[in-house]
Amino acid sequence: MTAITRDLFDEVMCPNYNPAAVLPVRGEGSRLWDQQGREYIDFAGGIAVNALGHAHPELVAALEEQGRKLWHLSNVYTNEPALQLAADLVAASFADKVYFANSGAEANEAALKLARRWAVEHHGEDKAEIISCEKSFHGRTFFTVTVGGQPAYSEGFGPKPGAVSHVPFNDLDALAAKISSRTCAVMLEPLQGEGGVKPAAPGYLEGVRKLCDEHDALLILDEVQSGVGRTGKLYAHEHAGIDPDILTTAKALGGGFPIGAMLTTDRIAPSLKVGTHGSTYGGNPLACAVAGRVLSIIKQPEFLAGVREREGWFREGLEAINARYEVFAEIRGQGLLLGAQMAPRLAGRARELLNAGVEHGVMTLVAGPDVLRFAPALNISQDEARQGLERLERAVAAWVAAADAA
Ligand SMILES: *Cc1c(COP(=O)(O)O)cnc(C)c1O
Repeated sequence: MTAITRDLFDEVMCPNYNPAAVLPVRGEGSRLWDQQGREYIDFAGGIAVNALGHAHPELVAALEEQGRKLWHLSNVYTNEPALQLAADLVAASFADKVYFANSGAEANEAALKLARRWAVEHHGEDKAEIISCEKSFHGRTFFTVTVGGQPAYSEGFGPKPGAVSHVPFNDLDALAAKISSRTCAVMLEPLQGEGGVKPAAPGYLEGVRKLCDEHDALLILDEVQSGVGRTGKLYAHEHAGIDPDILTTAKALGGGFPIGAMLTTDRIAPSLKVGTHGSTYGGNPLACAVAGRVLSIIKQPEFLAGVREREGWFREGLEAINARYEVFAEIRGQGLLLGAQMAPRLAGRARELLNAGVEHGVMTLVAGPDVLRFAPALNISQDEARQGLERLERAVAAWVAAADAA
């Protein structure tokens, strides 16, 4: 029999990831246990996915219930969980229509293809330009990774999809200079996640909305990471009081079960006619049953207020650690998507701190080389948060002593 260890990864998996040395096997709430039975507090949440923690009893029940009824049909037939979830998303958001996919990248791919189709139909082939932001992240299909603003991810694969350009995030003047009648869509994250946990500046989203309206360009908001309660509203754009034309949502939507969705309006949706786009698994009953339960819990106002309360625990805890060790230049973000920018003397070393955290029993994330990122479950308990922050403080103390000595 093959020994299932971390070493097996290097033997049988493509080398596009470099996973940590520990191998988690079980989770409950915001705790995880590895093969050796060591316990970790989870501040990573599967990268903003496990919004209700691990093995949430209501999600387990939804999955078991649906698992005994119906697993899959394809889109030759529709199904009850998909219709219910679509109706719930429409009722809870700006949207009139929903398209289901299986991931964030797929939802974004659908959004971009819909925007291009809409522009071709209503304005002609010349209205093709997609403008997005530098440092943005929209997924890893070739179209979405090209629209994303991190050339390191899109280069080295030969010719790229065309008519894509980038402007600095939070710079309205740069967008005003670039946008024109040839612009099909502006795509951005209301809170950049992978790019370093950078929130939209006050007034930015409102300004982008206005520029899009002036040029009849569609506003696509990628809320794959910022959506489903992450910032303390169901979707982050609600903080700015503007609506997009197309919104994409994934990650937390399934609470750990793969699903993505594209939301849009009655003005745009007709361009996605029968046969224009599709997905074998999109709208899968198991995924939609779980996501329906996730949404029903997270959309409650008391739950969303709880996210904002938890943001306070994390900000206070991180500021307290920083007051003692001066490791961070800034703590920023919104709700439970927070980033701690490394102090200048520790530039480029966030990953080392992540590793030190794992050694001390707390899992975090990075967002680029300079930012330690936190995306815990939105229902993390005060006890779990406090214990995780204590472990992080011990990790910081041990690591910073070594780092400063080096
Ligand atoms: C994670 C992420 C994606 C990609 O989602 P996948 O499910 O990995 O395809 C797209 N956009 C944003 C903002 C993300 O954070």
